[in-house]
Amino acid sequence: MHMPDVRLHEPGSLKNACDLLRQFSDRARVLAGGTDILVDLRQDRVTGVDQLVSLRRIPGLNDIEETADGLRIGAMVTPTAAARHERIRELFPALVDAIGSMAGWQVRSLATMAGNIARAVPCSDLAPVFVVADAEVQLNAGTSKRRLFVRDCFAGPRLTVFRHDEILTHILLPFPRSSCGLSYRKFGLRGANAIAVAGVAAGLWLNARGMIEEARIVLGAVAPIPCVSPKASAFLAGRKPGDDVFEEAGRLAAQDALPICDVRGSDDYRRDLVKALTVDALNEAVERARKGGN
Ligand SMILES: Cc1cc2nc3c(=O)[nH]c(=O)nc-3n(C[C@H](O)[C@H](O)[C@H](O)COP(=O)(O)OP(=O)(O)OC[C@H]3O[C@@H](n4cnc5c(N)ncnc54)[C@H](O)[C@@H]3O)c2cc1C
Repeated sequence: MHMPDVRLHEPGSLKNACDLLRQFSDRARVLAGGTDILVDLRQDRVTGVDQLVSLRRIPGLNDIEETADGLRIGAMVTPTAAARHERIRELFPALVDAIGSMAGWQVRSLATMAGNIARAVPCSDLAPVFVVADAEVQLNAGTSKRRLFVRDCFAGPRLTVFRHDEILTHILLPFPRSSCGLSYRKFGLRGANAIAVAGVAAGLWLNARGMIEEARIVLGAVAPIPCVSPKASAFLAGRKPGDDVFEEAGRLAAQDALPICDVRGSDDYRRDLVKALTVDALNEAVERARKGGN
């Protein structure tokens, strides 16, 4: 395994970074924390790339800001920094849990959350939580900007819908409603540095009578992209939270999964995991919703 020759660019502005991406086209990639792209280059999983455009020197990408609508997280914010942020801890414990289950502390302190979305691996730990929380990304191509829901970012395994010259500059996390509980559960084969064999994010919104007004179950590592389970989400809406209802939602979520069979687990095993993780995630989500939210 060797590292191919690459030229590192460290532009000081977004515009220059986008210009470089346009200039070198398929030969260039964005470099954020490097925990994926450098491994991909060494392992020849990404070929034909000889230009890396670092985001390190671009101002304004390291901050987490509170806006009128929610939190705005810069592209260079690491999972470790996010998990230590007071407002994220208060408003999004499910994200903090997902970060805690991701890789080991070295990777979490180097990687970026934006890179986790941009890499678009089916087993991402953070994407299911961003989807369940209705997060959006801000994309910037130098002269144009657009916003996309995280759920609409993925086109397939390791494939996003981003244009080649678009940089994900911010993740936008809307404030959760007070009656909402979010949760993330993952199964990996080890305690640390374990890629998800299956992951489930659950979101429950309760009405004043404690009934489920809206629900969302998002599956990770069991389909080509992190995706909502339509059957489980639709089944839960309008029902009273409880063991039987959560069991059935787990069964339906397992039906919606499209797992692969590999060294980490068979497709049947992964379906069983989805069922169990959905029940666990729903129990935690309803507890959080009943306590007033998050
Ligand atoms: C040992 C190890 C264990 C791991 N375990 C886990 C795990 O348990 N769970 C998990 O979810 N992940 C895991 N990962 C994956 C990895 O850490 C994440 O995907 C990471 O968040 C990627 O962020 P990065 O900043 O390092 O991205 P980089 O490696 O810098 O970039 C990744 C890809 O995204 C593109 N990119 C990055 N930032 C942007 C941007 N702002 N705009 C546009 N494109 C961009 C790059 O061009 C590249 O194609 C692990 C990685 C390692 C090495």
